[in-house]
Amino acid sequence: MSTTMRRLGIITLTNSAAVVTPSLLSSTAAFPGTLTLPSPLRNHRLSNSIRFHKSKSLSFSCFSSSSSAAYLPSLEEYPSTKGSVVRDDNQKVVLKGMTYATLQEWVQSHGFRPGQALMLWKRLYKDNIWANDVDELEGLNKDLKRMISEHAEFGALTLKDIRSASDGTRKILFTLDDGLVIETVVIPCDRGRTTVCVSSQVGCAMNCQFCYTGRMGLKRNLTTAEIVEQAVYARRLLSHEVGSITNVVFMGMGEPFHNIDNVIKAANIMVDENGLHFSPRKVTVSTSGLVPQLKRFLRESNCALAVSLNATTDEVRNWIMPINRKYKLSLLLETLREGLSSRHKYKVLFEYVMLAGVNDSMDDARRLVELVQGIPCKINLIQFNPHSGSQFIQTEEDKMIKFRNVLAEGGCTVLMRFSRGNDQMAACGQLGMIGAVQAPVMRVPEQFRTALKASV
Ligand code: SAH
Ligand code: SF4
Repeated sequence: MSTTMRRLGIITLTNSAAVVTPSLLSSTAAFPGTLTLPSPLRNHRLSNSIRFHKSKSLSFSCFSSSSSAAYLPSLEEYPSTKGSVVRDDNQKVVLKGMTYATLQEWVQSHGFRPGQALMLWKRLYKDNIWANDVDELEGLNKDLKRMISEHAEFGALTLKDIRSASDGTRKILFTLDDGLVIETVVIPCDRGRTTVCVSSQVGCAMNCQFCYTGRMGLKRNLTTAEIVEQAVYARRLLSHEVGSITNVVFMGMGEPFHNIDNVIKAANIMVDENGLHFSPRKVTVSTSGLVPQLKRFLRESNCALAVSLNATTDEVRNWIMPINRKYKLSLLLETLREGLSSRHKYKVLFEYVMLAGVNDSMDDARRLVELVQGIPCKINLIQFNPHSGSQFIQTEEDKMIKFRNVLAEGGCTVLMRFSRGNDQMAACGQLGMIGAVQAPVMRVPEQFRTALKASV
């Protein structure tokens, strides 16, 4: 059996002085929201995922320096297996970490036919089965089932909690095998569209100043299985309540392109026609702007791309999104201009979180029109979601509308997105749990100090 088919031992990564200790489980225990665990689904067993917690994990921090002035996100590449789970006492493969081609190879390597691999794949991902246990593999040959129970794991996530916000948004919390917790959000929209927002990392190294997840720092990358299973679980747990889940956005915890191997693989699994069968146009990967990975994504994936722009000058972007110190606005935009020139009918979605007095002036709007010239795009203006300790304030709605009008008059396709799931901290930029050690707060440029709630 190839090593890629095996669950791998924990890799210890401690690349800096400050190691963040996860206090995640305890910090969610007192959550005041409504606990609405779903009524039992067919064959659904919460207990099936309560498995071992032989925690051997060691978190790693992204903070390369305690001085915020010197801070830059660590862009060290973590190969797909690094920082991943799990056990060295068990050499089982994780079914949801395999592409169809790999699963087929694995099934055949145990003496079964390719057609049986297809049946297994369909049981895992299709026909409202979403099997999470060998007993749910209806119609599969007995020997194949025995082989699977001996050599394979179904899941990588343990359901911990589901919280419902007043607008229908659900936040699902999962515990990972090493005890860390991630969040997945399901957002019912009008017109029969329901979106699942998946996490790609535990925490995030990018330290965007307006983002709650960024405050946590990075604990580790998620494995392919941990990413895919968020979408499977969302369908399994909530389809009966919210209808079919049609869209996936990689806009949960983490910077997807900092974990690009696993993200591309997970997106491929999600769009497989014999499986979950999301349309590639409806699987959107969002990035803060890691240029080399962005180029790779455009080469290798046919899924949709979103880029969080959030500023129209390097000065502001350097401050609120420190990744801009490495990949400047001009480089980012030129890369998109070039990368999209050969793509047919492909538009990038620019996200722009509106921060009062920081990036919401009419000059910003006019600059934005100029910046995106020649890039096939849509622009989403996002209302800032406040969170504890955030120094930013929301742009008022009528100002957002004026900003939008300038963009529309400049020929841009522009949408406004207001907070969803806010009362359960399930909105953009509100995911995660901050531990004792936090990412550094950057120095606020002089001219913006009065615009912020608290001077830093
Ligand atoms: N790391 C990726 C995807 C996760 S963040 C990225 O940055 O694109 C998803 C979106 O949430 C991004 O567009 C980000 O700008 C936005 N966001 C972060 N914090 C926010 C907040 N407090 N309020 C509103 N949007 C926020
Ligand atoms: Fe990370 Fe995205 Fe949050 Fe920035 S906005 S800290 S990249 S999750």
